[in-house]
Amino acid sequence: MDKAELKLRQSIIDACRSMNGLGINQGTSGNISARCGKLMLITPSGVPYEELRPKDIVTTPVAGNGEKWSGTLAPSSEWRFHLRILQERPEVGSVVHTHSTYATTLAICNKPIPAIHYMVAAAGGPDIRVAPYATYGTEELSDLAIKAMEGRTCCLLRNHGVIATGPDVRRALWLAVEIETLARQYYLSLTLDNAQILPDAEIAHVIEKFKNYGPRQKPRKASTAGRA
Ligand code: 13P
Ligand code: ZN
Repeated sequence: MDKAELKLRQSIIDACRSMNGLGINQGTSGNISARCGKLMLITPSGVPYEELRPKDIVTTPVAGNGEKWSGTLAPSSEWRFHLRILQERPEVGSVVHTHSTYATTLAICNKPIPAIHYMVAAAGGPDIRVAPYATYGTEELSDLAIKAMEGRTCCLLRNHGVIATGPDVRRALWLAVEIETLARQYYLSLTLDNAQILPDAEIAHVIEKFKNYGPRQKPRKASTAGRA
């Protein structure tokens, strides 16, 4: 294993531990994968995050069908949707799956998250859909999740949890936290019964604006030097 892969394995473990610290997961539920060149790295199934070591992360070729795995531990039971997402979306570098409380509560009630806040734009569109229910770890769940994520960076899974993606582990984890925040806001707004939904055009506008969001230099004032 080269240094870059070791670093990525450790970043998956750090993200797993922070999921529990952030309160967006508990116990061994949830799982994280990351792209490492031609390989998918993924958490093993059912191992408590505090016990995870870099050697425990398992790998399989992204281009494969999940038949060949490195290591001795079995991969996360959800390796199917992790692998499909990495295969079908070259821009995705990491997939985070959680059972975070508010998002899962909405998924239990089959309630997609509408554009209650402009941050829904982080989902890549004006809502976060709920994939219909299928048993955990199945091909059927993988198919339903892929469909619910069309044109989106994430989805909810009915009676189950959340899938969030990103270009790297840090940003996929950030999105998982953002989804839980939106779910909490939506849940609370439902208790007041007057939630205002932003129009699709506004979310499209915010998606454009997000392309330039982040720390950057202030625009420089037009220079007056040399003028008479
Ligand atoms: P694994 O421990 O197999 O990753 O399963 C956790 C989970 O969330 C299944 O949906
Ligand atoms: Zn799960």
